[in-house]
Amino acid sequence: MASISRADVEAPIGEVLVSADELQRRVRELGAEISRDYAGRSLLLVGVLKGAVFFLSDLMRSIEIPVELDFMAVASYGSATDSSGVVRILKDLDVVIEGRDVLIVEDIVDSGLTLQYLIRNLGSRNPRTLEVCALLTKPERRKVDLPTRYVGFEIPDRFVVGYGLDYAERHRNLPYVAAFER
Ligand code: 5GP
Repeated sequence: MASISRADVEAPIGEVLVSADELQRRVRELGAEISRDYAGRSLLLVGVLKGAVFFLSDLMRSIEIPVELDFMAVASYGSATDSSGVVRILKDLDVVIEGRDVLIVEDIVDSGLTLQYLIRNLGSRNPRTLEVCALLTKPERRKVDLPTRYVGFEIPDRFVVGYGLDYAERHRNLPYVAAFER
């Protein structure tokens, strides 16, 4: 991890990239789309801690089919801002996913390396289906091609905080997504 100074953490919040209203509207749309796509089935949402928690809790309340919830926590080796693709599981799922419809809920897809690892890892457990719902994606930063079935917003190559996303554990509580210039 690169060292993080106090001045960095306390840097001012930059431009709002996705407002609270836009977030709520899009999350409702995604919930409706997921409910339609999985109609007649039951779905297991796998939230990736911690950043996806806010998105996940809003998304889950706009899904109208039977839905269950589990979490994974992963740590990606690399610097504070660049993941290396080498991922360590800090918390695994509580449930067995074999034969289930599973939807991974992620906060943001940057290089895609973390998600690529998760897809491979969960895919090897033989779920019936495995898809991804990511709130944000930065297409310019993508290093690997990934099947992200549901995406909230495409954003430019900026480091962002808010609505679950942090910088050194701060700013998750902002109700919008904003750029953070360190
Ligand atoms: P990837 O493996 O796709 O490069 O990185 C994914 C992870 O890096 C995300 O789950 C998130 O934890 C972190 N990340 C990537 N971009 C940002 C960003 O702009 N802001 C914050 N707060 N985290 C980010």
